[in-house]
Amino acid sequence: MSTSSAYLTIAGLGVDVLYKDIKNLHISVYPPMGRVRVAAPERMDDDTIRRAVIQRLPWIRRQRDQLQAAERQDKRQMLSGETHYVWGERYRLDVSRTSGQHRVERSGTTLWVVASEGADADARFGVLDRWYRRELKAAIPPLLEKWEKRIGVQSSHFIVRRMKTKWGTCARESAALWFNPELAKKNPRCLEYIVVHELMHLMERTHGSRFVELMDQHLPDWRARREELNGAPLADEEWL
Ligand SMILES: [Zn+2]
Repeated sequence: MSTSSAYLTIAGLGVDVLYKDIKNLHISVYPPMGRVRVAAPERMDDDTIRRAVIQRLPWIRRQRDQLQAAERQDKRQMLSGETHYVWGERYRLDVSRTSGQHRVERSGTTLWVVASEGADADARFGVLDRWYRRELKAAIPPLLEKWEKRIGVQSSHFIVRRMKTKWGTCARESAALWFNPELAKKNPRCLEYIVVHELMHLMERTHGSRFVELMDQHLPDWRARREELNGAPLADEEWL
């Protein structure tokens, strides 16, 4: 089976395309942010893929709305027993300890979120969210140092900011990079892929063949990391 792939921007939407030995085109929308992936027959041209995606835009938007609604729902709970992920590892949330000194601790497979007595779900969520951001802010600098040297580029600074549909992005003019705090929930290999991907954009703006060549050269297993990052699809639809 072929593993060639491309990125297309269709109606302002970043779309990952994987070419496979299949007959029908599939579109999938992946949580948590609604990444769109197309599995296409090997010889299908870009225009056909574009038309298929545009035709399915209302369906794609519905899937994304559902994902965002599910995320909002998720925030309101923050109860002991829930599953939460940190750097790709699964933890059981425990909110039974309270203290005026808010903190998050991991021990064994337990994730302790310690907040003030009487803290509601939003307050607990805030404690955990700030901790994820600190985790990410601590993990990024060593990766930048390693990969700026290897690739031969220099970023100016980075910002951790929630983005609805992107794991990362960059501004070429200022050489600034943005990272989504959701990355702290994924395997660190995934963060490394996004760091390399965004640094690569300082050399190559688009996701064309030169970009793919550079990724292949510097991070040969980037496709597997991307798959891991995007996880199982939320929704899948198939047609000719
Ligand atoms: Zn990109």
